[in-house]
Amino acid sequence: MGYQTPYAPTRTELSNCIQCGLCLPHCPTFRLTGKETDSPRGRLTAMSAVLDGIIEIDDTFEETLSFCLGCRACEPVCPSMVPYGRTLEGARAEIAAQRGGVARRFRAWITVSWLGSRAMMNSITFATALVQRCGLARVAPSRFRTGLGGLRRIRWKTPSLQGKRFEPEGAPVATVGFLVGCIMGPWFGEVHQASISLLVRAGYRVVVPPGQTCCGALAAHDGAADGASRMASHNVKAFGDVDYVVADAAGCSAHLKDYAHWVPPDEMGNWQVKDINELIAEAIEGGRLPRSTRRRGGAALQHPCHLRNAQRITDQPRVILEAAGYDPSDIDPMCCGAAGFYSILRPETSAHLGKNKVKEIRQTESTVVASANPGCEMQLRSHLGEGYQVLHPVELYAQALEEDSETTA
Ligand code: SF4
Ligand code: SF4
Repeated sequence: MGYQTPYAPTRTELSNCIQCGLCLPHCPTFRLTGKETDSPRGRLTAMSAVLDGIIEIDDTFEETLSFCLGCRACEPVCPSMVPYGRTLEGARAEIAAQRGGVARRFRAWITVSWLGSRAMMNSITFATALVQRCGLARVAPSRFRTGLGGLRRIRWKTPSLQGKRFEPEGAPVATVGFLVGCIMGPWFGEVHQASISLLVRAGYRVVVPPGQTCCGALAAHDGAADGASRMASHNVKAFGDVDYVVADAAGCSAHLKDYAHWVPPDEMGNWQVKDINELIAEAIEGGRLPRSTRRRGGAALQHPCHLRNAQRITDQPRVILEAAGYDPSDIDPMCCGAAGFYSILRPETSAHLGKNKVKEIRQTESTVVASANPGCEMQLRSHLGEGYQVLHPVELYAQALEEDSETTA
Protein backbone atom coordinates (compact mmCIF):
# COMPACT_ATOMS: atom_id res chain seq x y z
CA MET A 1 0.00 0.00 0.00
CA GLY A 2 2.99 2.32 0.60
CA TYR A 3 2.54 5.85 1.87
CA GLN A 4 -0.57 7.93 1.31
CA THR A 5 -0.20 11.37 2.89
CA PRO A 6 1.83 14.46 1.93
CA TYR A 7 3.70 14.15 5.24
CA ALA A 8 5.30 10.77 4.42
CA PRO A 9 9.09 10.32 4.53
CA THR A 10 10.46 10.96 1.04
CA ARG A 11 12.87 8.87 -0.99
CA THR A 12 15.43 11.68 -0.86
CA GLU A 13 15.31 11.83 2.93
CA LEU A 14 15.50 8.06 3.34
CA SER A 15 18.11 7.39 0.68
CA ASN A 16 20.53 9.72 2.47
CA CYS A 17 21.18 6.90 4.94
CA ILE A 18 24.35 5.10 3.92
CA GLN A 19 23.82 2.41 6.58
CA CYS A 20 27.13 3.26 8.26
CA GLY A 21 25.82 2.58 11.77
CA LEU A 22 27.58 5.54 13.40
CA CYS A 23 24.27 6.52 15.03
CA LEU A 24 23.73 3.17 16.75
CA PRO A 25 25.77 3.75 19.94
CA HIS A 26 24.01 7.10 20.45
CA CYS A 27 20.48 5.68 20.27
CA PRO A 28 18.94 5.00 23.70
CA THR A 29 16.56 2.29 22.47
CA PHE A 30 19.34 0.42 20.63
CA ARG A 31 21.47 0.62 23.75
CA LEU A 32 18.63 -0.87 25.77
CA THR A 33 17.89 -3.86 23.52
CA GLY A 34 20.83 -4.19 21.12
CA LYS A 35 18.37 -4.95 18.31
CA GLU A 36 18.80 -3.49 14.84
CA THR A 37 15.05 -2.87 14.62
CA ASP A 38 15.34 -0.60 17.67
CA SER A 39 18.08 1.51 16.05
CA PRO A 40 17.82 4.58 13.78
CA ARG A 41 19.26 2.58 10.88
CA GLY A 42 16.73 -0.22 11.39
CA ARG A 43 13.84 2.24 11.58
CA LEU A 44 14.96 4.04 8.43
CA THR A 45 15.26 0.68 6.66
CA ALA A 46 11.71 -0.17 7.71
CA MET A 47 10.46 3.21 6.45
CA SER A 48 12.21 2.60 3.10
CA ALA A 49 10.69 -0.87 2.89
CA VAL A 50 7.20 0.64 3.20
CA LEU A 51 8.05 3.20 0.54
CA ASP A 52 9.19 0.40 -1.80
CA GLY A 53 6.09 -1.68 -1.13
CA ILE A 54 8.13 -4.49 0.48
CA ILE A 55 6.26 -4.31 3.78
CA GLU A 56 2.95 -2.85 4.91
CA ILE A 57 2.30 -0.49 7.80
CA ASP A 58 1.43 -3.21 10.28
CA ASP A 59 1.79 -3.94 14.02
CA THR A 60 5.54 -4.59 13.73
CA PHE A 61 6.18 -1.33 11.88
CA GLU A 62 4.06 0.58 14.37
CA GLU A 63 5.87 -0.98 17.33
CA THR A 64 9.28 -0.19 15.81
CA LEU A 65 8.40 3.49 15.50
CA SER A 66 6.47 3.84 18.71
CA PHE A 67 9.46 2.56 20.74
CA CYS A 68 11.53 5.45 19.32
CA LEU A 69 11.80 8.36 21.77
CA GLY A 70 12.09 10.97 19.03
CA CYS A 71 15.16 12.26 20.86
CA ARG A 72 17.06 12.81 17.59
CA ALA A 73 20.38 11.80 19.18
CA CYS A 74 20.98 10.04 15.87
CA GLU A 75 21.02 13.32 13.91
CA PRO A 76 24.11 15.25 15.07
CA VAL A 77 26.33 12.16 14.64
CA CYS A 78 25.05 11.25 11.17
CA PRO A 79 27.64 11.94 8.44
CA SER A 80 24.87 11.97 5.79
CA MET A 81 22.70 14.45 7.67
CA VAL A 82 19.63 12.21 7.53
CA PRO A 83 16.70 14.30 8.82
CA TYR A 84 15.57 11.50 11.12
CA GLY A 85 13.12 13.60 13.17
CA ARG A 86 11.30 14.64 9.98
CA THR A 87 11.06 11.07 8.72
CA LEU A 88 9.77 9.88 12.11
CA GLU A 89 7.02 12.53 12.14
CA GLY A 90 6.11 11.58 8.56
CA ALA A 91 6.00 7.86 9.31
CA ARG A 92 3.87 8.43 12.42
CA ALA A 93 1.47 10.59 10.35
CA GLU A 94 1.14 7.62 7.98
CA ILE A 95 0.50 5.20 10.83
CA ALA A 96 -2.23 7.53 12.15
CA ALA A 97 -3.79 7.90 8.68
CA GLN A 98 -3.68 4.21 7.79
CA ARG A 99 -4.39 2.56 11.15
CA GLY A 100 -6.43 5.11 13.11
CA GLY A 101 -7.54 3.68 16.46
CA VAL A 102 -9.43 5.14 19.40
CA ALA A 103 -6.32 5.78 21.56
CA ARG A 104 -4.54 7.64 18.79
CA ARG A 105 -7.61 9.71 17.93
CA PHE A 106 -7.97 10.57 21.61
CA ARG A 107 -4.34 11.71 21.75
CA ALA A 108 -4.85 13.78 18.59
CA TRP A 109 -7.85 15.41 20.26
CA ILE A 110 -5.68 16.26 23.28
CA THR A 111 -2.75 17.62 21.29
CA VAL A 112 -4.82 19.66 18.85
CA SER A 113 -8.14 20.57 20.51
CA TRP A 114 -7.05 20.72 24.16
CA LEU A 115 -3.57 22.17 23.87
CA GLY A 116 -4.70 24.50 21.08
CA SER A 117 -7.54 26.01 23.12
CA ARG A 118 -6.92 28.60 25.84
CA ALA A 119 -10.34 27.91 27.42
CA MET A 120 -9.59 24.19 27.56
CA MET A 121 -6.12 24.79 29.03
CA ASN A 122 -7.68 27.01 31.73
CA SER A 123 -10.06 24.17 32.66
CA ILE A 124 -7.25 21.60 32.68
CA THR A 125 -5.13 23.95 34.78
CA PHE A 126 -7.94 24.34 37.32
CA ALA A 127 -8.44 20.55 37.46
CA THR A 128 -4.68 19.94 37.83
CA ALA A 129 -4.44 22.50 40.64
CA LEU A 130 -7.31 20.70 42.36
CA VAL A 131 -5.58 17.30 41.95
CA GLN A 132 -2.40 18.76 43.47
CA ARG A 133 -4.17 20.31 46.45
CA CYS A 134 -6.30 17.24 47.23
CA GLY A 135 -3.30 14.92 47.04
CA LEU A 136 -5.03 12.90 44.30
CA ALA A 137 -1.74 12.60 42.39
CA ARG A 138 -0.72 9.87 44.89
CA VAL A 139 -3.64 7.65 43.87
CA ALA A 140 -3.47 8.35 40.12
CA PRO A 141 -2.55 5.39 37.85
CA SER A 142 1.23 4.91 37.99
CA ARG A 143 1.77 5.94 34.38
CA PHE A 144 0.39 9.42 35.19
CA ARG A 145 2.04 9.73 38.59
CA THR A 146 5.49 10.60 37.22
CA GLY A 147 4.17 13.56 35.25
CA LEU A 148 1.96 14.80 38.07
CA GLY A 149 4.77 14.36 40.63
CA GLY A 150 7.11 16.48 38.51
CA LEU A 151 4.82 19.48 38.13
CA ARG A 152 5.49 22.82 39.74
CA ARG A 153 2.83 24.14 42.09
CA ILE A 154 0.04 25.02 39.64
CA ARG A 155 -1.96 28.20 40.20
CA TRP A 156 -5.73 28.07 39.82
CA LYS A 157 -5.54 30.54 37.00
CA THR A 158 -2.71 32.45 35.35
CA PRO A 159 -3.47 35.78 33.63
CA SER A 160 -2.81 35.48 29.91
CA LEU A 161 0.09 37.36 28.36
CA GLN A 162 -1.54 37.40 24.94
CA GLY A 163 -1.92 40.87 23.45
CA LYS A 164 0.67 42.40 25.80
CA ARG A 165 3.64 44.43 24.66
CA PHE A 166 6.82 45.18 26.63
CA GLU A 167 9.04 48.11 25.67
CA PRO A 168 12.83 47.71 25.87
CA GLU A 169 15.13 49.44 28.30
CA GLY A 170 17.08 51.82 26.05
CA ALA A 171 17.23 51.83 22.26
CA PRO A 172 15.46 48.80 20.75
CA VAL A 173 17.74 46.10 19.35
CA ALA A 174 14.95 44.19 17.58
CA THR A 175 11.33 43.12 18.00
CA VAL A 176 10.62 39.70 19.43
CA GLY A 177 7.33 37.84 18.97
CA PHE A 178 6.99 35.73 22.10
CA LEU A 179 5.37 32.28 21.99
CA VAL A 180 3.20 31.67 25.04
CA GLY A 181 2.65 28.00 24.14
CA CYS A 182 0.14 25.58 25.64
CA ILE A 183 1.40 24.48 29.07
CA MET A 184 4.21 27.02 29.40
CA GLY A 185 1.86 29.92 30.15
CA PRO A 186 -0.32 28.37 32.87
CA TRP A 187 2.16 25.84 34.33
CA PHE A 188 5.56 27.48 33.84
CA GLY A 189 4.62 31.17 34.03
CA GLU A 190 7.78 31.95 36.03
CA VAL A 191 9.90 30.96 33.01
CA HIS A 192 7.94 33.38 30.82
CA GLN A 193 8.37 36.16 33.40
CA ALA A 194 12.13 35.59 33.56
CA SER A 195 12.43 35.39 29.75
CA ILE A 196 10.47 38.58 29.09
CA SER A 197 12.21 40.59 31.82
CA LEU A 198 15.64 39.56 30.48
CA LEU A 199 14.69 40.26 26.86
CA VAL A 200 13.46 43.74 27.79
CA ARG A 201 16.62 44.40 29.80
CA ALA A 202 18.71 43.23 26.81
CA GLY A 203 17.01 45.82 24.59
CA TYR A 204 14.32 43.77 22.86
CA ARG A 205 10.80 44.99 22.30
CA VAL A 206 8.62 41.99 23.18
CA VAL A 207 5.19 41.55 21.66
CA VAL A 208 2.94 38.65 22.59
CA PRO A 209 0.60 38.38 19.62
CA PRO A 210 -3.04 37.69 20.48
CA GLY A 211 -4.61 34.73 18.73
CA GLN A 212 -1.45 32.59 18.77
CA THR A 213 -1.86 28.95 19.73
CA CYS A 214 0.22 25.94 20.82
CA CYS A 215 3.19 25.45 18.48
CA GLY A 216 1.91 22.00 17.48
CA ALA A 217 5.05 20.04 18.43
CA LEU A 218 3.26 17.34 20.42
CA ALA A 219 0.70 16.88 17.63
CA ALA A 220 3.46 16.58 15.02
CA HIS A 221 5.48 14.09 17.10
CA ASP A 222 2.43 11.91 17.62
CA GLY A 223 1.27 11.77 13.99
CA ALA A 224 -1.59 14.29 14.24
CA ALA A 225 -0.18 15.96 11.14
CA ASP A 226 -3.21 17.84 9.81
CA GLY A 227 -3.74 19.42 13.25
CA ALA A 228 -0.02 20.29 13.53
CA SER A 229 -0.13 21.91 10.12
CA ARG A 230 -3.19 24.00 11.01
CA MET A 231 -1.54 25.16 14.25
CA ALA A 232 1.62 26.16 12.40
CA SER A 233 -0.31 28.17 9.79
CA HIS A 234 -2.32 29.84 12.53
CA ASN A 235 0.82 30.92 14.40
CA VAL A 236 2.58 32.16 11.29
CA LYS A 237 -0.35 34.53 10.67
CA ALA A 238 -0.50 35.57 14.34
CA PHE A 239 3.22 36.51 14.55
CA GLY A 240 3.10 38.71 11.46
CA ASP A 241 5.91 41.23 11.18
CA VAL A 242 8.54 40.71 13.89
CA ASP A 243 12.31 40.17 13.72
CA TYR A 244 12.42 37.03 15.85
CA VAL A 245 9.93 34.52 17.13
CA VAL A 246 11.18 33.29 20.50
CA ALA A 247 10.17 30.31 22.63
CA ASP A 248 11.46 29.38 26.07
CA ALA A 249 10.71 25.66 25.85
CA ALA A 250 13.25 23.69 23.81
CA GLY A 251 10.56 21.45 22.26
CA CYS A 252 8.66 24.53 21.04
CA SER A 253 11.66 26.40 19.62
CA ALA A 254 12.82 23.23 17.82
CA HIS A 255 9.39 22.76 16.27
CA LEU A 256 9.06 26.44 15.29
CA LYS A 257 12.38 26.08 13.45
CA ASP A 258 10.76 23.24 11.44
CA TYR A 259 7.71 25.29 10.42
CA ALA A 260 8.86 25.38 6.79
CA HIS A 261 7.83 21.69 6.65
CA TRP A 262 4.35 22.44 7.95
CA VAL A 263 3.39 25.69 6.26
CA PRO A 264 3.26 26.43 2.48
CA PRO A 265 6.30 28.53 1.44
CA ASP A 266 4.19 31.53 0.36
CA GLU A 267 2.65 31.72 3.87
CA MET A 268 5.91 31.60 5.88
CA GLY A 269 6.95 34.68 7.85
CA ASN A 270 10.23 36.54 7.34
CA TRP A 271 11.28 36.21 10.96
CA GLN A 272 13.97 33.99 12.41
CA VAL A 273 13.17 31.57 15.22
CA LYS A 274 15.36 31.64 18.32
CA ASP A 275 15.37 29.67 21.49
CA ILE A 276 15.51 32.01 24.50
CA ASN A 277 18.95 30.59 25.43
CA GLU A 278 20.36 31.94 22.17
CA LEU A 279 19.24 35.56 22.60
CA ILE A 280 20.10 35.76 26.30
CA ALA A 281 23.58 34.22 25.89
CA GLU A 282 24.23 36.56 22.96
CA ALA A 283 23.20 39.58 25.06
CA ILE A 284 25.51 38.46 27.91
CA GLU A 285 28.45 37.99 25.56
CA GLY A 286 27.70 41.32 23.88
CA GLY A 287 27.67 43.14 27.24
CA ARG A 288 23.95 44.00 27.11
CA LEU A 289 23.26 41.82 30.14
CA PRO A 290 25.52 41.68 33.22
CA ARG A 291 27.54 38.86 34.75
CA SER A 292 27.06 38.23 38.44
CA THR A 293 30.23 38.58 40.48
CA ARG A 294 28.83 36.39 43.25
CA ARG A 295 29.70 32.66 43.14
CA ARG A 296 26.73 30.36 43.76
CA GLY A 297 28.32 26.91 43.54
CA GLY A 298 27.62 24.06 41.18
CA ALA A 299 24.64 23.49 38.89
CA ALA A 300 23.97 20.28 36.96
CA LEU A 301 23.26 21.21 33.36
CA GLN A 302 20.86 18.89 31.55
CA HIS A 303 20.82 19.23 27.76
CA PRO A 304 17.26 18.65 26.49
CA CYS A 305 17.26 16.59 23.28
CA HIS A 306 15.32 19.26 21.40
CA LEU A 307 17.92 21.85 22.34
CA ARG A 308 21.07 19.78 21.85
CA ASN A 309 20.16 17.37 19.06
CA ALA A 310 17.49 19.27 17.14
CA GLN A 311 19.01 22.78 17.43
CA ARG A 312 22.66 22.01 18.32
CA ILE A 313 22.44 24.49 21.22
CA THR A 314 24.87 23.41 23.94
CA ASP A 315 27.12 26.37 24.85
CA GLN A 316 24.44 29.02 25.44
CA PRO A 317 22.86 27.55 28.61
CA ARG A 318 26.39 27.22 30.04
CA VAL A 319 27.10 30.91 29.25
CA ILE A 320 23.87 31.87 31.04
CA LEU A 321 24.60 29.74 34.11
CA GLU A 322 28.15 31.07 34.36
CA ALA A 323 26.83 34.65 34.11
CA ALA A 324 24.46 33.76 36.95
CA GLY A 325 27.45 32.78 39.10
CA TYR A 326 27.12 28.99 38.85
CA ASP A 327 29.77 26.42 37.93
CA PRO A 328 27.85 24.21 35.48
CA SER A 329 28.52 20.48 35.22
CA ASP A 330 27.31 18.89 31.99
CA ILE A 331 25.51 15.61 32.44
CA ASP A 332 25.40 12.83 29.87
CA PRO A 333 23.29 13.95 26.90
CA MET A 334 21.30 10.68 26.65
CA CYS A 335 17.51 11.30 26.61
CA CYS A 336 15.92 11.56 30.08
CA GLY A 337 12.91 9.52 28.89
CA ALA A 338 10.25 12.25 29.13
CA ALA A 339 9.68 12.50 25.36
CA GLY A 340 6.13 13.85 25.17
CA PHE A 341 3.60 11.04 25.61
CA TYR A 342 6.37 8.47 26.06
CA SER A 343 6.24 8.46 29.85
CA ILE A 344 2.53 7.59 29.65
CA LEU A 345 2.73 5.13 26.74
CA ARG A 346 5.96 3.40 27.83
CA PRO A 347 6.31 4.12 31.54
CA GLU A 348 8.93 1.43 32.22
CA THR A 349 11.42 2.54 29.56
CA SER A 350 10.79 6.16 30.45
CA ALA A 351 11.39 5.51 34.16
CA HIS A 352 14.54 3.50 33.41
CA LEU A 353 16.02 6.43 31.46
CA GLY A 354 14.82 8.93 34.07
CA LYS A 355 16.53 7.00 36.87
CA ASN A 356 19.78 6.83 34.88
CA LYS A 357 19.68 10.59 34.43
CA VAL A 358 19.08 11.16 38.12
CA LYS A 359 22.12 9.00 38.99
CA GLU A 360 24.29 11.27 36.86
CA ILE A 361 22.85 14.40 38.45
CA ARG A 362 23.53 13.03 41.94
CA GLN A 363 27.14 12.34 40.94
CA THR A 364 27.65 16.05 40.27
CA GLU A 365 26.71 16.73 43.94
CA SER A 366 24.77 19.81 42.78
CA THR A 367 21.30 20.35 44.14
CA VAL A 368 20.58 23.01 41.53
CA VAL A 369 19.62 21.52 38.15
CA ALA A 370 19.12 23.55 34.97
CA SER A 371 16.82 22.26 32.25
CA ALA A 372 15.41 24.29 29.35
CA ASN A 373 12.45 22.06 28.53
CA PRO A 374 9.28 21.57 30.59
CA GLY A 375 8.92 17.83 29.91
CA CYS A 376 12.53 17.16 30.98
CA GLU A 377 12.10 19.39 34.02
CA MET A 378 9.06 17.39 35.16
CA GLN A 379 10.80 14.06 34.54
CA LEU A 380 13.89 15.14 36.49
CA ARG A 381 11.96 16.62 39.41
CA SER A 382 9.78 13.56 39.66
CA HIS A 383 12.74 11.14 39.79
CA LEU A 384 15.00 13.37 41.89
CA GLY A 385 12.50 13.89 44.69
CA GLU A 386 12.96 16.36 47.54
CA GLY A 387 16.05 18.50 48.04
CA TYR A 388 16.63 19.56 44.43
CA GLN A 389 15.77 22.75 42.64
CA VAL A 390 15.07 22.13 38.93
CA LEU A 391 14.66 25.37 36.96
CA HIS A 392 15.16 26.85 33.50
CA PRO A 393 18.62 28.45 32.98
CA VAL A 394 17.02 31.88 32.36
CA GLU A 395 15.11 31.61 35.63
CA LEU A 396 18.31 30.88 37.54
CA TYR A 397 19.96 33.83 35.83
CA ALA A 398 17.02 36.22 36.45
CA GLN A 399 16.94 35.13 40.12
CA ALA A 400 20.68 35.74 40.44
CA LEU A 401 20.39 39.26 39.00
CA GLU A 402 17.49 39.98 41.35
CA GLU A 403 19.53 38.80 44.35
CA ASP A 404 22.50 40.89 43.23
CA SER A 405 20.34 44.02 42.91
CA GLU A 406 18.84 43.44 46.38
CA THR A 407 22.35 43.07 47.84
CA THR A 408 23.58 46.31 46.29
CA ALA A 409 20.38 48.31 47.02
S1 SF4 B 1 15.26 9.54 17.75
FE1 SF4 B 1 16.39 8.74 19.53
S2 SF4 B 1 15.39 6.77 20.04
FE2 SF4 B 1 14.73 7.35 17.96
S3 SF4 B 1 16.16 6.35 16.55
FE3 SF4 B 1 17.01 8.41 16.93
S4 SF4 B 1 18.40 8.16 18.67
FE4 SF4 B 1 17.09 6.31 18.61
S1 SF4 C 1 24.55 7.62 11.02
FE1 SF4 C 1 23.15 8.38 9.44
S2 SF4 C 1 23.81 7.40 7.55
FE2 SF4 C 1 24.73 6.24 9.24
S3 SF4 C 1 23.25 4.56 9.67
FE3 SF4 C 1 22.74 6.26 11.04
S4 SF4 C 1 21.17 7.43 9.92
FE4 SF4 C 1 22.17 6.11 8.41
